[in-house]
Amino acid sequence: MTLDFAPTLSREAALRSLARAFEAAGLPDARADARFLALHALALDPLDLSLRGNQTIGEDGARRLGRVAARRLAGEPVARILGEWEFWGLPFALSPETLVPRPDTESVVEAALGLFPGREHPLRLADLGTGSGCILVALLHERPDAFGLGLDRSAGALAVARNNAVANGVGARAAFLCGSWLDALKGPFDLIVSNPPYIAAPVIATLDPEVRLHDPRAALDGGVDGLDAYRAILSGLAQRPDLLAPGGALVLEIGYDQGEALSAFVQDAGFAEARIGRDLAGRDRVVTLTPSLAGR
Ligand code: GLN
Repeated sequence: MTLDFAPTLSREAALRSLARAFEAAGLPDARADARFLALHALALDPLDLSLRGNQTIGEDGARRLGRVAARRLAGEPVARILGEWEFWGLPFALSPETLVPRPDTESVVEAALGLFPGREHPLRLADLGTGSGCILVALLHERPDAFGLGLDRSAGALAVARNNAVANGVGARAAFLCGSWLDALKGPFDLIVSNPPYIAAPVIATLDPEVRLHDPRAALDGGVDGLDAYRAILSGLAQRPDLLAPGGALVLEIGYDQGEALSAFVQDAGFAEARIGRDLAGRDRVVTLTPSLAGR
């Protein structure tokens, strides 16, 4: 579906017409999507739009607006069209190799920050499957004397994460390494975090097309039961407990229905207990493991 904008349209009128088209197409967040995309296509900030909404969009504006409208109407998520998304109040560039950061994942950052309230010496962090780098960069942003290592199997994702660390002012305290889970790691770390792929492979076909068709499969697919990454991380840590410093912790994002399965694994891996944290919707979303709970 295409949408034509006359160059003589005002910015406000163009925005209204974009929102109406999105509403007519049944997009659930039609108005918000239209606003994000109009600001992007017309290279405006929100103040420009509200103070100078009656200026015309011009030839270039009309063309760019038509292009973003067509992409959105074809089902491409807003974040993919913008090429960046916000997480923890910070901007993150995206690429096809990175998941769009989810608000739920902020629960991982919160859980991690809550673990070391009055820490005296600098934290050493590792983020497994860092993707856009959003968890690591948010943590480094909150802990100005921490140092962090982001790992990913995708070289493309690592390049994006590195740029995001620099763009958000933490580049000097972040390093990035190509590797799978714990394999390339040399510890010890005070905190290991991860939002691994955890969707059961057969479930992927049932996901919303915006996720299924636009997020990288490698960031979603957790194997037959969705738990492969947790097995790899926990068995790796059971074999190499030295990767966590004394008093260190592991904080993992989980699917809303995986709390029980994770708790069982955790005992097998030699941890006494898993603490489950919730997301904003009140669903299980984070598991925190501290070896000290197992008396190690
Ligand atoms: N939370 C994501 C989703 O629901 C999945 C991300 C992941 O597997 N880590 O699509």
